[in-house]
Amino acid sequence: MQDSGITLQRGGVSQPMEQGVHHDRALEIALANPLAKNVETIPIDHANGRVLAKPLASYVDDPRFDNSAMDGFAVRASDCKEGPSTLTVVGVSQTGGEQPPAIGPGQACRIMTGAPLPEGADAIVMVEDTKVDGTRVTILGPARTGYIRRRAENLSKGQEALPPGATLSSATLALAGTMGYGEVEVVKRPTIAILSTGDELVPPGSELAPGQIYESNSHALASLVESMGCHAVRHESVADSMDELRTTLDKLSGHDAILTSGGVSMGEWDLVRRIMEEEGDLSFWRMRIRPGGPPLFGTWRETPLFGLPGNPVSSLVVFHVLVAPWIAGSLGYHRELGPRISRRVSVILEEDIPGAPGKLCLRRIRIRSEDGQLLAATHTHQGSGNMHSMVAHNGLTLLPPDTDGKAGEVVDALWLV
Ligand code: AMP
Ligand code: MG
Repeated sequence: MQDSGITLQRGGVSQPMEQGVHHDRALEIALANPLAKNVETIPIDHANGRVLAKPLASYVDDPRFDNSAMDGFAVRASDCKEGPSTLTVVGVSQTGGEQPPAIGPGQACRIMTGAPLPEGADAIVMVEDTKVDGTRVTILGPARTGYIRRRAENLSKGQEALPPGATLSSATLALAGTMGYGEVEVVKRPTIAILSTGDELVPPGSELAPGQIYESNSHALASLVESMGCHAVRHESVADSMDELRTTLDKLSGHDAILTSGGVSMGEWDLVRRIMEEEGDLSFWRMRIRPGGPPLFGTWRETPLFGLPGNPVSSLVVFHVLVAPWIAGSLGYHRELGPRISRRVSVILEEDIPGAPGKLCLRRIRIRSEDGQLLAATHTHQGSGNMHSMVAHNGLTLLPPDTDGKAGEVVDALWLV
C-alpha cells in the first residue's frame, strides 16, 4: 500500500488517504463509514424480502401438543401386536378441537392429521389399514409410534430459530409465523443513489448524436442495490462538469449512500476523483484488483460515496467485491441466510487463466456443475467494456496477486447469482 501524501480532515481526526489498497483493506476502510442501520416493526404479511433485525425466539412449542401425523386411529400399540385385532371406538380427535377422551385397553379413537393425541394412546394406525363397522374398528396394518408428532420435537418455546440478518422469504417467513410472530422487527431499507457521469452518456432509447453512447451502468447498479435489500434511486447522468457534479452530489447527499460511475481514473476529465480530492473526504483511491482498479471511497457531506469505474464490467465487478460486502457488513446480514448476490465456491479450472501482478484477479468465468464438481472456463474476450461477457459468464475468479491459475487446479471463485 502506498500513501499519497494527501491528508484529509475527517471527524476531527486527520487520516491519510490511502492509495492502491488491497481488497480486504478497501473493505475495512469503507466499513469504518458504514451504511446507517435503522430498524422498523412491520406486519409479517408485508415482510417478504425484508431482513430480520433481531433473532426470533419461538413464542410456542412446535408442535404445541402431541398429535397425529396421519388420518387414522389412535391406539395402544400393545392391543395391535398379534393378528387383526378389533377395538372399540370411543371418540374422535379433530384439529382445532378439545382434548379427546382417554383410551383404555381394547379401545381406539378416530384421529385427524394434526389433532391431539388422546391420553393412553401411544401409536397411530393409518385409516387405509383399518376397517370400520359401527363403533368397532379392525386393525389390519401396523400401529406406529412414529406417526405421533411429539410436543416441541421441532422447537421449544423460547428457542431462537431465526438469526438476525436472515432474509424473510418462503421458509423463514413461515417459520416466523409458526413461532407466533404477527409483526417482525426488520432492517429499514436504506436508499442508495446512483449517478452515472460522462458527457457521452444518453439514456437508452434516445437518439444518439455523434460520439454518444447509451448509459447502462446505472441499470446494473440499481438492480444489484435492490438485490442487496436496499432502495436504488437512479439519477439521470451528469456531464463532466465540476459545477454540475457538485450540485448533484449535494442533492443526493440526503440519501444513505451514493454510488457514482465513471470519472475516477487518471484522466483530466475524471472529475469524481478530483471533486472528492478537493472538496469531499476521500478515504482511499485505487484498489489492487483487475479489472476495476480505479474505484474510490469517501464521504460527500458525510454521506458514504463509492466512486465506481465507468467501464461497465469494472463497475459491476467492484460492486460485487466491495459494495455488496459493505452493505452486508453494515446491515449485519447473515452469511448464509441474508441477502447476497454471490456465493464463494471452489472451482476446477478447465483452462489456464493468467493472474495479475500485484492484484487480485477477477476473471470472468462460466461455472457449471458436472459429476458433482464445479468446472470453470472463459467464453468471451475479457475487455472491461464488454457487458456481453457478464451475461456469457456467471462467475469471477479470486486469483490472489501474482498467481496464475493452471488447467485442472482448484481455485476460489465467486458464483454470481
Ligand atoms: P470513465 O471511467 O468515465 O473514464 O469511463 C470509462 C469507459 O466507460 C468509457 O468508455 C465510458 O464511455 C464508459 N462508461 C462510463 N460510464 C458509463 C455508463 N454509465 N454506461 C455505459 N458506459 C459507461
Ligand atoms: Mg467518463
